[in-house]
Amino acid sequence: MELALAARDVLLVPRCAGCGDPGSWFCVACRDQCEPVAHDGTLALRAAGAHAGPLRAAIHRLKYGGEPGLAAELGALVALELARDLARGVTVDAVVPVPLHRSRAAARGYDQAALLARAVAERTGLPLRPVLHRIREGRPQVELDRPARAANVRGAFVAEASSLRGLRVAIVDDVATTGATLSDAAAAARSAGARAVRAYIVAVEE
Ligand SMILES: [Zn+2]
Repeated sequence: MELALAARDVLLVPRCAGCGDPGSWFCVACRDQCEPVAHDGTLALRAAGAHAGPLRAAIHRLKYGGEPGLAAELGALVALELARDLARGVTVDAVVPVPLHRSRAAARGYDQAALLARAVAERTGLPLRPVLHRIREGRPQVELDRPARAANVRGAFVAEASSLRGLRVAIVDDVATTGATLSDAAAAARSAGARAVRAYIVAVEE
């Protein structure tokens, strides 16, 4: 009985996913360590930070620690990057998650990118359009070396036909390693009629 109560207390006290300090799910000190990243290549990409330090720890807990609640915290960081672009005059019509394959989401109990995208949509007031579907699961990216990763995701997504016709969309994911997954998701969004695609993620591997 005492043990059960103690365990409950531990669960109820928020602890920073970055450094473990009590009081919040991702503390101000850890947030301050995130240096936003901007790439304007073929696909404009914005990340809350590099995939390192506390941000890396927090993403790991979101993906593998069974803590979907962290998506709201990390989604807020992504929403900030999108809001910066909107303030600069960039137009975005909808937020589109880069989804897990159904079977992987089922195994995990949630799809972290879908949760992140929902948080981004809520924070920015933009509509959420979950119209991309991952048709090939592939092997987990973490098991593959870089060239294999690029091959693994080619043609991995489909989008509902015409579901994004004429829209300028923000695709949302947790981490980009080579950018191959994002490029592939962007291609699927364009095939569904999106006229512009930008990527907003929590962290980028540098
Ligand atoms: Zn912290």
